[in-house]
Amino acid sequence: MIVVLKHNPNQEQVNGLIGWLQEKGVGIHTSVGEANTILGLVGDTSKLDIDLIAALDIVEDVKRVQEPYKNANRKFHPEDTVIRVGNTQIGGGSLTIMAGPCSVESEEQVVTIAKAVKASGATMLRGGAFKPRTSPYAFQGLGEQGLAYLKAAKEETGLPIVTELMDLSQLPLFRDVDVIQIGARNMQNFDLLKAVGHQDKPVMIKRGMSATYEEWLMSAEYVMAGGNEKVILCERGIRTFESYTRNTLDLAAVPVMRRLTHLPIIIDPSHATGKSWLVEPLAMGAVATGADGLQIEVHNDPAHALCDGPQSLRPEDFDRLAKKLLALQAAVRGMEG
Ligand code: PEP
Ligand code: MN
Repeated sequence: MIVVLKHNPNQEQVNGLIGWLQEKGVGIHTSVGEANTILGLVGDTSKLDIDLIAALDIVEDVKRVQEPYKNANRKFHPEDTVIRVGNTQIGGGSLTIMAGPCSVESEEQVVTIAKAVKASGATMLRGGAFKPRTSPYAFQGLGEQGLAYLKAAKEETGLPIVTELMDLSQLPLFRDVDVIQIGARNMQNFDLLKAVGHQDKPVMIKRGMSATYEEWLMSAEYVMAGGNEKVILCERGIRTFESYTRNTLDLAAVPVMRRLTHLPIIIDPSHATGKSWLVEPLAMGAVATGADGLQIEVHNDPAHALCDGPQSLRPEDFDRLAKKLLALQAAVRGMEG
């Protein structure tokens, strides 16, 4: 961090600032120029409040030269994080395919879909039991019963489960859940992030609709600061001026996250587009850009789905897509040598 002091600052205040920073364990390099004095702060500045320093009388400007996230930062952890889930892994060159219905509707529905997606090559089962819906009158999910149906599908197929946690009070019900999903709408629910930071389960954080990369990584940092290092990031489209698609898929997130963090990155082309015919090309794009996996909505009867039918693939379409994705991933890996 660099602190530029105002011209001719009060020396007592400058000494006070330097003493305070040193107490926080930060080293200081002072450069006295003709117009301004500059303090170069070295060490862990992630806990310093930049706005507080900027508001001081003697301070002209403050700039961060180091990212405010430490645990998630690739600079301090150069190797990719690989997360084991059941007998599969996320990251480390594998392609994770999470597939299943938007919402769990019945035991038969989720078990049927789970069997189909497993046969096509999916490595995890998705399905919402607690649903964040824009309208309070829309189907809100089956809740605890939905989790029981997911468990039945897991027992039947062996597929690990990923499902959304909406509220702290639901956590005791998540014993059999393999990956806790934090939805886009809860990306900055800091109490929820802190709570899952104390869990011994992987957490997948979906990017908030208008969250910057840094805000998204700071949410990962919340979980990691609590001691849970098993964090997965999921890009699911962001809000832009375009209204043709449900959201705008930001595929640049894949190489950018690769650079900024060691955490695995998953792409959700279903929520990103809202249209089933756009799922395939964008899923292929995600694999081509090097994503660690995909989350795709699949429904056996999209026309009658209780949620997100228009973006759901039929099992036979998913089957074709999964085969293409695995072939593409093998080709991409071949090119990387
Ligand atoms: C979901 O995956 O079911 C979901 C609601 O996604 P998002 O939080 O990305 O909208
Ligand atoms: Mn959905």
